Amino acid sequence: MQKLGELNPISNDVENVLDRSPSAVQRILILGGTGEGTELAARLASRKDLASIYSFAGRVTRPRSPEGAVRVGGFGGIEGLISYLLTENIMAVVDATHPFSVRISRNVELACARLRLPLIAFTRPAWLQRKDDQWHEVATFEDAAKAVDGRNGRVLLSIGRQEVGSFTACNDAWFLIRAIEEPTGKLPRHYQILLQRGPFDLKEELQLLRDYSIDYIVSKNSGGSGTYTKIEAARLLGIPVVMVKRPAKHTVPVVETVDEVVSELAELSARTVQCGDRRKDVR
Ligand code: NAP
Repeated sequence: MQKLGELNPISNDVENVLDRSPSAVQRILILGGTGEGTELAARLASRKDLASIYSFAGRVTRPRSPEGAVRVGGFGGIEGLISYLLTENIMAVVDATHPFSVRISRNVELACARLRLPLIAFTRPAWLQRKDDQWHEVATFEDAAKAVDGRNGRVLLSIGRQEVGSFTACNDAWFLIRAIEEPTGKLPRHYQILLQRGPFDLKEELQLLRDYSIDYIVSKNSGGSGTYTKIEAARLLGIPVVMVKRPAKHTVPVVETVDEVVSELAELSARTVQCGDRRKDVR
């Protein structure tokens, strides 16, 4: 397992962090929007040494509220994020954003490097293709649109609402667009919208694919368990999946479980207390 110092070459300057605040309670910013981010907030809620603030981008009108303090909305780019981290006296950041959220991860890497703040980059593992899966992997949403159009098929478009615009040029395929909230902007020619929020169980997913006579699924390789049942259902019914591969997100090493994040934070907290004790000794 990587240690904090390895996560960001200049991030383990605990003395530097202590110079900004000698408080025994470490203020942690969780960049969220994922189930694991919510789980982390719940696990930190009872800790006396850590106080977490959970940050939502504000894309969903009624997000699932995590435990502890919450803030909503973009920071205003790298400079805005730096200013927030300083004003809120944040001692470490956990990036628990979605594997397809690239911009916020790049911003937080740069902001943490500039402030010499510890950054724990969490990304859940990608799904791996199994023997009976029929995946067609593509690099972009535009490639996914090309793969399904011209076939007159019925497609479950299960990619959220942000990238639906990549499918507007599809004139032949019919789409069941599943999203938490109504997509805005241009849509493909033939479609129906299904507003649903995961997690979904396997029985429901099998029923959905049968009820709508789905021929293909378009999915992001999001990883995690919350939306994996559609992949299992496709395997059982022999339905091909156009799988959009993950974009490059982090340049620092990542941790892949919430347990690892919790133990990294515990280590950081212990090291900070030790440094604080040392500092008292020299006064
Ligand atoms: P993105 O493209 O990486 O970020 C776009 C901008 O949104 C960022 O520059 C930042 O604005 C703001 N932002 C993103 N995450 C934020 C957070 N946790 N707290 C505050 N501001 C945030 O992100 P995205 O793909 O649009 O995703 C937005 C949110 O939805 C993320 O929290 C992500 O975890 C969640 N989500 C995304 C997906 C997906 O497929 N993309 C799926 C499920 C959940 P400023 O530059 O103004 O700071």
